[in-house]
Amino acid sequence: MQKTIRDLNLKNKTVLIRADFNVPFKGDVISDDNRIVSALPTIKYALEKGAKVVLFSHLGKVKHKGTPEEVEADKKKNNMVIVYKRLGEILGKDKVKFSDVPSGDTVNELVKTLKPGEVLLLQNTRYEKGEEKNDPALAAKWASFADVFVMDAFGSAHRAHASTYGVPEILKNEGNALSRVVHVDKKDRPYVAVIGGFKVSDKIKVIETLLEKCDKVLIGGAMAYTFQVALGKEVGISPFEPDQVDFAKKCLDLAGNKILLPIDGVATDAFKDWTKKVTVDGPNIPAGFEGMDIGPKTQALFAKELSKAKMVFWNGPMGVFEQSDFEAGTRAVCEAISKLHGAFTVIGGGDSAAAVAQFGYKDAFSHISTGGGASLEMIENDGHLPGIDVIG
Ligand code: ADP
Ligand code: MG
Repeated sequence: MQKTIRDLNLKNKTVLIRADFNVPFKGDVISDDNRIVSALPTIKYALEKGAKVVLFSHLGKVKHKGTPEEVEADKKKNNMVIVYKRLGEILGKDKVKFSDVPSGDTVNELVKTLKPGEVLLLQNTRYEKGEEKNDPALAAKWASFADVFVMDAFGSAHRAHASTYGVPEILKNEGNALSRVVHVDKKDRPYVAVIGGFKVSDKIKVIETLLEKCDKVLIGGAMAYTFQVALGKEVGISPFEPDQVDFAKKCLDLAGNKILLPIDGVATDAFKDWTKKVTVDGPNIPAGFEGMDIGPKTQALFAKELSKAKMVFWNGPMGVFEQSDFEAGTRAVCEAISKLHGAFTVIGGGDSAAAVAQFGYKDAFSHISTGGGASLEMIENDGHLPGIDVIG
Protein backbone atom coordinates (compact mmCIF):
# COMPACT_ATOMS: atom_id res chain seq x y z
CA MET A 1 0.00 0.00 0.00
CA GLN A 2 1.19 3.50 -0.77
CA LYS A 3 2.03 5.61 2.20
CA THR A 4 0.49 9.02 2.63
CA ILE A 5 2.10 12.14 3.93
CA ARG A 6 0.35 11.56 7.25
CA ASP A 7 2.44 8.46 7.98
CA LEU A 8 5.71 10.38 7.90
CA ASN A 9 7.75 12.39 10.37
CA LEU A 10 8.16 15.72 8.58
CA LYS A 11 9.94 17.83 11.19
CA ASN A 12 12.79 19.78 9.54
CA LYS A 13 12.38 17.65 6.40
CA THR A 14 12.43 19.13 2.93
CA VAL A 15 9.16 18.02 1.38
CA LEU A 16 9.13 18.28 -2.40
CA ILE A 17 5.58 18.43 -3.69
CA ARG A 18 4.79 17.99 -7.37
CA ALA A 19 1.67 20.10 -7.47
CA ASP A 20 -0.69 20.80 -10.33
CA PHE A 21 -0.63 24.58 -10.63
CA ASN A 22 -1.53 24.54 -14.29
CA VAL A 23 -4.25 27.11 -13.66
CA PRO A 24 -6.31 28.93 -16.27
CA PHE A 25 -5.21 32.57 -16.54
CA LYS A 26 -5.24 35.64 -18.75
CA GLY A 27 -2.27 37.97 -18.60
CA ASP A 28 -1.41 37.90 -14.91
CA VAL A 29 -4.92 37.21 -13.65
CA ILE A 30 -5.81 33.68 -12.56
CA SER A 31 -9.40 33.02 -13.64
CA ASP A 32 -9.89 29.96 -11.44
CA ASP A 33 -7.60 29.16 -8.51
CA ASN A 34 -9.23 25.84 -7.70
CA ARG A 35 -6.05 23.88 -8.40
CA ILE A 36 -4.10 26.03 -5.94
CA VAL A 37 -6.81 25.74 -3.32
CA SER A 38 -6.93 21.94 -3.78
CA ALA A 39 -3.23 21.68 -2.96
CA LEU A 40 -3.57 23.63 0.29
CA PRO A 41 -4.45 20.78 2.68
CA THR A 42 -1.25 18.90 1.82
CA ILE A 43 0.89 22.05 1.96
CA LYS A 44 -0.61 23.25 5.24
CA TYR A 45 -0.30 19.83 6.81
CA ALA A 46 3.40 19.66 5.94
CA LEU A 47 4.00 23.20 7.24
CA GLU A 48 2.19 22.48 10.51
CA LYS A 49 4.42 19.44 11.03
CA GLY A 50 7.52 21.61 10.75
CA ALA A 51 8.52 20.77 7.17
CA LYS A 52 10.20 22.99 4.61
CA VAL A 53 7.98 22.79 1.56
CA VAL A 54 9.25 23.02 -2.02
CA LEU A 55 6.53 23.19 -4.67
CA PHE A 56 6.96 22.64 -8.37
CA SER A 57 4.59 22.30 -11.29
CA HIS A 58 4.21 22.94 -14.98
CA LEU A 59 2.17 25.83 -16.30
CA GLY A 60 0.99 25.98 -19.90
CA LYS A 61 3.33 24.93 -22.69
CA VAL A 62 6.89 25.88 -23.56
CA LYS A 63 7.73 24.65 -27.06
CA HIS A 64 11.46 24.10 -26.96
CA LYS A 65 11.55 23.24 -30.65
CA GLY A 66 10.74 26.85 -31.52
CA THR A 67 13.20 29.65 -32.21
CA PRO A 68 14.91 31.19 -29.17
CA GLU A 69 12.50 34.12 -29.45
CA GLU A 70 9.49 31.80 -29.47
CA VAL A 71 10.80 29.88 -26.46
CA GLU A 72 11.34 33.17 -24.61
CA ALA A 73 7.81 34.29 -25.48
CA ASP A 74 6.36 30.99 -24.19
CA LYS A 75 8.33 31.38 -20.96
CA LYS A 76 7.21 34.94 -20.51
CA LYS A 77 3.59 33.95 -21.03
CA ASN A 78 3.72 30.94 -18.67
CA ASN A 79 5.55 32.43 -15.73
CA MET A 80 4.79 30.73 -12.41
CA VAL A 81 5.05 34.09 -10.67
CA ILE A 82 1.25 34.46 -10.89
CA VAL A 83 0.86 31.36 -8.74
CA TYR A 84 3.50 32.68 -6.35
CA LYS A 85 1.47 35.87 -5.85
CA ARG A 86 -1.72 33.92 -5.19
CA LEU A 87 0.03 31.56 -2.76
CA GLY A 88 1.44 34.57 -0.94
CA GLU A 89 -2.07 36.01 -0.55
CA ILE A 90 -3.35 32.73 0.85
CA LEU A 91 -0.44 31.60 3.05
CA GLY A 92 1.11 34.96 3.95
CA LYS A 93 3.69 36.80 1.86
CA ASP A 94 6.51 36.35 4.36
CA LYS A 95 6.09 32.57 4.28
CA VAL A 96 6.30 32.03 0.53
CA LYS A 97 9.50 32.35 -1.51
CA PHE A 98 9.92 32.12 -5.26
CA SER A 99 12.71 30.93 -7.50
CA ASP A 100 12.42 32.42 -10.99
CA VAL A 101 14.30 29.42 -12.38
CA PRO A 102 13.15 25.81 -11.92
CA SER A 103 16.54 24.22 -11.10
CA GLY A 104 20.23 24.88 -10.56
CA ASP A 105 22.37 26.81 -8.09
CA THR A 106 19.74 29.47 -7.37
CA VAL A 107 17.27 26.78 -6.35
CA ASN A 108 19.87 24.90 -4.30
CA GLU A 109 20.77 28.08 -2.40
CA LEU A 110 17.11 28.92 -1.74
CA VAL A 111 16.42 25.37 -0.54
CA LYS A 112 19.43 25.56 1.77
CA THR A 113 18.19 28.74 3.45
CA LEU A 114 14.54 27.69 3.60
CA LYS A 115 13.23 27.41 7.17
CA PRO A 116 10.70 24.96 8.60
CA GLY A 117 7.24 26.41 8.06
CA GLU A 118 8.26 28.15 4.84
CA VAL A 119 7.33 27.44 1.25
CA LEU A 120 9.49 27.76 -1.84
CA LEU A 121 7.77 27.72 -5.22
CA LEU A 122 9.94 26.91 -8.21
CA GLN A 123 9.53 28.35 -11.68
CA ASN A 124 7.49 26.44 -14.27
CA THR A 125 9.09 22.98 -14.72
CA ARG A 126 8.62 23.27 -18.48
CA TYR A 127 11.16 26.08 -18.64
CA GLU A 128 13.49 23.09 -18.63
CA LYS A 129 13.93 21.32 -21.93
CA GLY A 130 14.54 18.08 -20.06
CA GLU A 131 11.22 18.07 -18.20
CA GLU A 132 9.07 16.49 -20.91
CA LYS A 133 11.91 14.19 -21.98
CA ASN A 134 12.30 12.87 -18.45
CA ASP A 135 15.97 13.85 -18.48
CA PRO A 136 17.65 11.87 -15.67
CA ALA A 137 20.12 14.67 -14.88
CA LEU A 138 17.27 17.11 -14.36
CA ALA A 139 15.31 14.62 -12.24
CA ALA A 140 18.45 14.01 -10.16
CA LYS A 141 18.77 17.74 -9.46
CA TRP A 142 15.26 17.89 -8.07
CA ALA A 143 15.55 14.59 -6.21
CA SER A 144 18.77 15.74 -4.54
CA PHE A 145 17.08 18.01 -2.05
CA ALA A 146 13.95 15.97 -1.36
CA ASP A 147 13.72 14.14 1.93
CA VAL A 148 10.13 13.41 1.05
CA PHE A 149 8.47 13.50 -2.35
CA VAL A 150 4.73 13.95 -2.59
CA MET A 151 2.86 13.45 -5.82
CA ASP A 152 -0.05 15.84 -5.64
CA ALA A 153 -0.53 16.41 -9.37
CA PHE A 154 -2.91 13.62 -10.24
CA GLY A 155 -3.81 15.29 -13.52
CA SER A 156 -0.18 14.98 -14.63
CA ALA A 157 0.57 11.60 -13.07
CA HIS A 158 0.19 9.71 -16.33
CA ARG A 159 2.99 11.67 -17.95
CA ALA A 160 6.50 10.24 -17.85
CA HIS A 161 8.13 13.62 -17.27
CA ALA A 162 11.13 14.40 -15.08
CA SER A 163 9.07 16.03 -12.32
CA THR A 164 6.30 13.41 -12.25
CA TYR A 165 8.19 10.21 -13.03
CA GLY A 166 11.96 10.76 -12.95
CA VAL A 167 12.10 12.17 -9.43
CA PRO A 168 10.10 9.42 -7.66
CA GLU A 169 11.95 6.80 -9.71
CA ILE A 170 15.32 8.08 -8.49
CA LEU A 171 14.12 8.18 -4.90
CA LYS A 172 12.81 4.63 -5.17
CA ASN A 173 16.14 3.35 -6.49
CA GLU A 174 17.81 5.17 -3.67
CA GLY A 175 15.54 3.48 -1.18
CA ASN A 176 16.20 0.02 -2.62
CA ALA A 177 19.97 0.49 -2.58
CA LEU A 178 20.07 1.83 0.94
CA SER A 179 17.71 -0.82 2.17
CA ARG A 180 20.09 -3.51 0.87
CA VAL A 181 23.05 -2.12 2.81
CA VAL A 182 21.20 -2.20 6.11
CA HIS A 183 19.28 -5.45 5.66
CA VAL A 184 22.29 -7.57 4.90
CA ASP A 185 21.81 -10.80 2.98
CA LYS A 186 24.26 -13.71 3.21
CA LYS A 187 25.26 -13.32 -0.42
CA ASP A 188 26.40 -9.77 0.33
CA ARG A 189 29.13 -10.88 2.74
CA PRO A 190 31.89 -10.02 3.35
CA TYR A 191 30.36 -6.59 3.77
CA VAL A 192 32.98 -3.84 4.09
CA ALA A 193 32.28 -0.23 5.03
CA VAL A 194 34.63 2.68 4.50
CA ILE A 195 34.01 5.71 6.70
CA GLY A 196 35.87 8.97 6.55
CA GLY A 197 35.28 12.67 6.35
CA PHE A 198 35.67 15.33 8.91
CA LYS A 199 33.78 14.61 12.09
CA VAL A 200 32.93 11.57 14.17
CA SER A 201 30.16 13.57 15.84
CA ASP A 202 28.30 13.98 12.51
CA LYS A 203 28.17 10.25 12.02
CA ILE A 204 27.92 8.56 15.42
CA LYS A 205 24.78 6.61 14.62
CA VAL A 206 26.07 5.63 11.20
CA ILE A 207 29.28 4.32 12.71
CA GLU A 208 27.32 2.35 15.31
CA THR A 209 25.02 0.88 12.69
CA LEU A 210 27.84 -0.06 10.32
CA LEU A 211 29.87 -1.65 13.11
CA GLU A 212 26.87 -3.81 13.86
CA LYS A 213 26.07 -4.77 10.25
CA CYS A 214 29.48 -5.01 8.57
CA ASP A 215 32.28 -7.54 8.66
CA LYS A 216 34.96 -4.84 8.44
CA VAL A 217 34.89 -1.09 8.89
CA LEU A 218 37.79 0.89 7.46
CA ILE A 219 38.17 4.33 9.02
CA GLY A 220 40.07 7.17 7.38
CA GLY A 221 39.78 10.94 7.00
CA ALA A 222 40.07 13.38 9.87
CA MET A 223 37.72 11.27 11.95
CA ALA A 224 40.38 8.56 12.21
CA TYR A 225 42.45 10.83 14.50
CA THR A 226 39.81 10.66 17.21
CA PHE A 227 40.14 6.86 17.09
CA GLN A 228 43.95 7.10 17.14
CA VAL A 229 43.76 9.30 20.24
CA ALA A 230 41.48 6.71 21.82
CA LEU A 231 44.27 4.18 21.22
CA GLY A 232 46.84 6.48 22.82
CA LYS A 233 48.54 7.47 19.57
CA GLU A 234 50.03 10.90 18.78
CA VAL A 235 48.11 13.01 16.25
CA GLY A 236 50.15 16.24 16.25
CA ILE A 237 47.87 19.16 15.36
CA SER A 238 45.46 17.01 13.35
CA PRO A 239 41.80 17.82 13.86
CA PHE A 240 40.32 15.39 16.37
CA GLU A 241 37.31 15.68 18.65
CA PRO A 242 38.22 15.45 22.34
CA ASP A 243 34.59 14.92 23.32
CA GLN A 244 34.28 11.91 20.98
CA VAL A 245 37.28 10.01 22.29
CA ASP A 246 35.10 8.07 24.74
CA PHE A 247 32.76 7.12 21.93
CA ALA A 248 35.71 5.94 19.85
CA LYS A 249 36.97 3.88 22.82
CA LYS A 250 33.56 2.29 23.16
CA CYS A 251 33.55 1.35 19.46
CA LEU A 252 37.02 -0.15 19.76
CA ASP A 253 36.03 -2.13 22.85
CA LEU A 254 32.86 -3.48 21.29
CA ALA A 255 34.02 -4.08 17.73
CA GLY A 256 37.77 -3.56 17.67
CA ASN A 257 38.27 -6.71 15.62
CA LYS A 258 36.19 -5.22 12.81
CA ILE A 259 37.86 -1.81 12.75
CA LEU A 260 40.85 -1.01 10.57
CA LEU A 261 42.60 2.32 11.18
CA PRO A 262 45.34 4.03 9.12
CA ILE A 263 48.81 2.62 9.65
CA ASP A 264 50.54 5.57 7.97
CA GLY A 265 49.66 9.03 6.75
CA VAL A 266 50.44 12.12 4.73
CA ALA A 267 50.91 15.25 6.82
CA THR A 268 51.82 18.90 6.46
CA ASP A 269 53.45 21.37 8.82
CA ALA A 270 51.10 24.25 8.11
CA PHE A 271 47.58 23.90 6.81
CA LYS A 272 47.45 27.28 5.11
CA ASP A 273 50.93 27.29 3.61
CA TRP A 274 51.46 23.60 3.08
CA THR A 275 54.86 23.67 1.53
CA LYS A 276 56.05 20.69 3.47
CA LYS A 277 54.25 17.51 2.59
CA VAL A 278 55.60 14.48 4.40
CA THR A 279 54.69 10.83 4.43
CA VAL A 280 54.55 9.61 7.98
CA ASP A 281 55.37 5.93 8.39
CA GLY A 282 53.22 4.65 11.22
CA PRO A 283 50.04 5.82 12.90
CA ASN A 284 51.64 8.60 14.97
CA ILE A 285 51.66 12.12 13.48
CA PRO A 286 54.64 14.12 14.85
CA ALA A 287 54.15 17.26 16.96
CA GLY A 288 53.45 20.35 14.85
CA PHE A 289 52.22 18.31 11.90
CA GLU A 290 48.69 17.94 10.66
CA GLY A 291 47.45 14.70 9.08
CA MET A 292 45.85 15.33 5.70
CA ASP A 293 45.44 11.92 4.06
CA ILE A 294 46.00 8.22 4.58
CA GLY A 295 49.43 7.00 3.47
CA PRO A 296 50.45 4.42 0.84
CA LYS A 297 50.56 1.49 3.28
CA THR A 298 47.05 2.25 4.46
CA GLN A 299 45.90 2.54 0.84
CA ALA A 300 47.24 -0.96 0.20
CA LEU A 301 45.74 -2.32 3.42
CA PHE A 302 42.30 -0.87 2.63
CA ALA A 303 42.48 -2.01 -1.00
CA LYS A 304 43.28 -5.57 0.11
CA GLU A 305 40.33 -5.62 2.48
CA LEU A 306 38.03 -4.16 -0.18
CA SER A 307 39.14 -6.75 -2.73
CA LYS A 308 37.38 -9.45 -0.69
CA ALA A 309 34.09 -7.59 -0.39
CA LYS A 310 30.76 -8.66 -1.86
CA MET A 311 29.14 -5.44 -0.68
CA VAL A 312 30.63 -2.03 0.10
CA PHE A 313 29.18 1.07 1.66
CA TRP A 314 31.39 4.14 1.56
CA ASN A 315 30.86 7.50 3.17
CA GLY A 316 33.45 10.18 3.73
CA PRO A 317 36.74 11.00 1.95
CA MET A 318 40.03 9.59 3.25
CA GLY A 319 41.75 12.97 3.21
CA VAL A 320 41.57 16.56 2.01
CA PHE A 321 40.87 15.35 -1.54
CA GLU A 322 40.02 18.90 -2.66
CA GLN A 323 43.79 19.52 -2.78
CA SER A 324 45.75 17.42 -5.25
CA ASP A 325 48.53 16.74 -2.73
CA PHE A 326 46.07 14.97 -0.46
CA GLU A 327 43.75 13.20 -2.86
CA ALA A 328 45.66 9.92 -3.26
CA GLY A 329 43.97 8.08 -0.38
CA THR A 330 40.45 8.87 -1.53
CA ARG A 331 41.41 8.05 -5.11
CA ALA A 332 42.86 4.69 -4.02
CA VAL A 333 39.61 3.75 -2.29
CA CYS A 334 37.68 4.71 -5.45
CA GLU A 335 39.99 2.56 -7.53
CA ALA A 336 39.79 -0.42 -5.20
CA ILE A 337 35.99 -0.36 -5.21
CA SER A 338 35.83 0.12 -8.97
CA LYS A 339 37.82 -3.11 -9.44
CA LEU A 340 35.19 -5.22 -7.69
CA HIS A 341 33.14 -7.27 -10.10
CA GLY A 342 29.75 -8.55 -9.09
CA ALA A 343 29.82 -6.73 -5.76
CA PHE A 344 27.11 -4.32 -4.69
CA THR A 345 28.73 -0.95 -4.04
CA VAL A 346 27.04 2.11 -2.62
CA ILE A 347 28.40 5.53 -1.88
CA GLY A 348 26.62 8.13 0.22
CA GLY A 349 27.57 11.66 1.23
CA GLY A 350 27.89 14.91 -0.66
CA ASP A 351 31.67 15.26 -0.50
CA SER A 352 32.27 11.58 -1.19
CA ALA A 353 30.04 11.75 -4.28
CA ALA A 354 31.92 14.89 -5.38
CA ALA A 355 35.24 13.05 -4.99
CA VAL A 356 34.00 10.12 -7.08
CA ALA A 357 32.91 12.53 -9.83
CA GLN A 358 36.19 14.43 -9.62
CA PHE A 359 38.19 11.24 -10.18
CA GLY A 360 35.95 10.03 -12.99
CA TYR A 361 34.55 6.95 -11.18
CA LYS A 362 30.89 7.87 -11.40
CA ASP A 363 29.95 4.75 -13.33
CA ALA A 364 32.00 2.41 -11.18
CA PHE A 365 29.47 2.13 -8.34
CA SER A 366 26.18 0.26 -8.17
CA HIS A 367 24.57 3.29 -6.58
CA ILE A 368 25.62 6.83 -5.76
CA SER A 369 23.21 8.27 -3.29
CA THR A 370 21.79 11.61 -4.32
CA GLY A 371 20.27 12.23 -0.94
CA GLY A 372 23.43 13.34 0.84
CA GLY A 373 22.49 13.62 4.47
CA ALA A 374 19.31 11.72 3.83
CA SER A 375 21.18 8.54 2.90
CA LEU A 376 23.02 8.57 6.21
CA GLU A 377 19.77 9.10 7.97
CA MET A 378 18.38 6.03 6.28
CA ILE A 379 21.30 4.00 7.55
CA GLU A 380 20.79 5.39 11.04
CA ASN A 381 17.12 4.51 10.92
CA ASP A 382 17.68 0.94 9.89
CA GLY A 383 16.39 1.38 6.41
CA HIS A 384 13.49 3.68 7.07
CA LEU A 385 13.68 6.98 5.33
CA PRO A 386 10.62 9.04 4.62
CA GLY A 387 12.34 10.37 1.52
CA ILE A 388 11.54 7.33 -0.51
CA ASP A 389 7.90 7.15 0.38
CA VAL A 390 5.70 8.32 -2.39
CA ILE A 391 2.00 8.84 -2.43
CA GLY A 392 -0.07 9.04 -5.52
P1 ADP B 1 30.57 13.50 3.19
O1 ADP B 1 29.99 14.80 2.68
O2 ADP B 1 30.94 12.59 2.06
O3 ADP B 1 29.68 12.83 4.20
P2 ADP B 1 32.15 14.83 5.18
O4 ADP B 1 31.34 16.05 4.98
O5 ADP B 1 31.99 14.09 6.44
O6 ADP B 1 31.93 13.83 3.93
O7 ADP B 1 33.69 15.18 5.09
C1 ADP B 1 34.27 15.75 3.96
C2 ADP B 1 35.38 16.68 4.31
O8 ADP B 1 36.32 16.08 5.18
C3 ADP B 1 36.14 17.08 3.07
O9 ADP B 1 35.93 18.43 2.83
C4 ADP B 1 37.60 16.76 3.41
O10 ADP B 1 38.50 17.78 3.00
C5 ADP B 1 37.56 16.66 4.91
N1 ADP B 1 38.69 15.86 5.40
C6 ADP B 1 38.93 14.56 5.18
N2 ADP B 1 40.10 14.18 5.77
C7 ADP B 1 40.60 15.27 6.37
C8 ADP B 1 41.77 15.55 7.15
N3 ADP B 1 42.68 14.60 7.39
N4 ADP B 1 41.95 16.82 7.61
C9 ADP B 1 41.04 17.76 7.34
N5 ADP B 1 39.92 17.57 6.63
C10 ADP B 1 39.68 16.34 6.16
MG1 MG C 1 29.91 16.77 3.59
